[in-house]
Amino acid sequence: MPKNKKITKYHFLLLSVIGLVLLMAVSTALWYFISPRLHEFNDALPFFLLSTLRIFFVILIIGTVLVLLTSIFEKNFLIANFAVKLFIKIVYPIVVFLGSLLGFSKEALGESYIKVNDSLVRALKPRYNPDDVIILLPHCLQNTDCSIRITVDVNNCKNCGKCTIGKILEIANNFGVEVFVATGGTLARRIITEQKPKLILAVACYRDLVSGIQDAYPINTFGIMNIRPFGPCVNTGVDTDEIETTLKRVIKV
Ligand code: SF4
Repeated sequence: MPKNKKITKYHFLLLSVIGLVLLMAVSTALWYFISPRLHEFNDALPFFLLSTLRIFFVILIIGTVLVLLTSIFEKNFLIANFAVKLFIKIVYPIVVFLGSLLGFSKEALGESYIKVNDSLVRALKPRYNPDDVIILLPHCLQNTDCSIRITVDVNNCKNCGKCTIGKILEIANNFGVEVFVATGGTLARRIITEQKPKLILAVACYRDLVSGIQDAYPINTFGIMNIRPFGPCVNTGVDTDEIETTLKRVIKV
């Protein structure tokens, strides 16, 4: 895929449909080839296997259709959560595999997945009290020259303007939302377990966002990708307007 081409949620959605069709075709073909052997063990075995496959695919198709409708129209069709969970767990790796064969980078696929996820959360039209929402930031947002320990308490930040942490705190304080800085996935998971939020607004690179969104499920998570003018993990930034717009959308007034 050309580098300057804008990645959208439709890339992931289209690949997920193609991936699902391929998965069904491959597993049906596999069944066709191994069923004579299965007959040798037990006459009912091929039938049992085919029925299991059919049930599995019906659930997966339902999940995919619900996700497609919800993501495209941003209206809540997510009436069968287990089917959606199956979609997330199974279809994502297939899309990554298929996408890489078609020349998509993992980052582009991750970004498209994050956009699908955000559209699903938007479709729920969630409105929460400020104390049910947390903002989770990566440590790499902090300027490397800053010696203040913001991972212990982000409110130690002096808002000196050298990085976006101060501005994010300002926005979060206006909405009464707490901000946490995580140095990695383990700390992020601990913060989520302790705070028990109903909605997470997470800033991170595509890789951490994709795994974080999947780990946090069924907690709704909005993912905002960081900006990396100096490469990954150092002096990164984020579009603070996007954080403010998202909070406006989700905080009860
Ligand atoms: S804004 Fe806060 S965290 Fe960032 S460099 Fe200044 S004091 Fe440190």
